Amino acid sequence: MAVNGTGPYDPQNVFARILRGELPCKKVYEDEYALAFHDIAPKAPIHVLVIPKGPFVSFADFSSNGTEAEITGFTRAVGKVARDLKLEAPGYRLLSNVGVEAGQEVPHFHVHLFGGKALGAMLPG
Ligand code: 5GP
Repeated sequence: MAVNGTGPYDPQNVFARILRGELPCKKVYEDEYALAFHDIAPKAPIHVLVIPKGPFVSFADFSSNGTEAEITGFTRAVGKVARDLKLEAPGYRLLSNVGVEAGQEVPHFHVHLFGGKALGAMLPG
């Protein structure tokens, strides 16, 4: 079910549980600011989720309330993951759903990183 992208933060959400090590994930990368792991239901040959370590509900929350260090660290992590996956030359797509109309399902900010094939139209229909 789609969630409100403006909080409050639910510490029992599935990505919070992955961050705490309570649930497993197929980890791609981790540093002080970010964790990247494969999406459980991939929609492209490469479909990785990159999440900040802090408790942010959505991009709306993160962009307003993240510190400079958190925002810089997270952004650099997203770029590094794409680079490490050798997606820079062929290209890739970043997407972040915010709130109900975007269909956000997990209320912890995440960026979807898609690649590994020509991705086609930006939105269906
Ligand atoms: P959203 O719709 O919130 O932008 O995307 C949530 C994404 O999280 C979906 O692509 C979904 O497949 C993925 N997802 C949901 N639960 C889990 C999980 O437990 N593990 C992993 N790796 N991905 C998950």
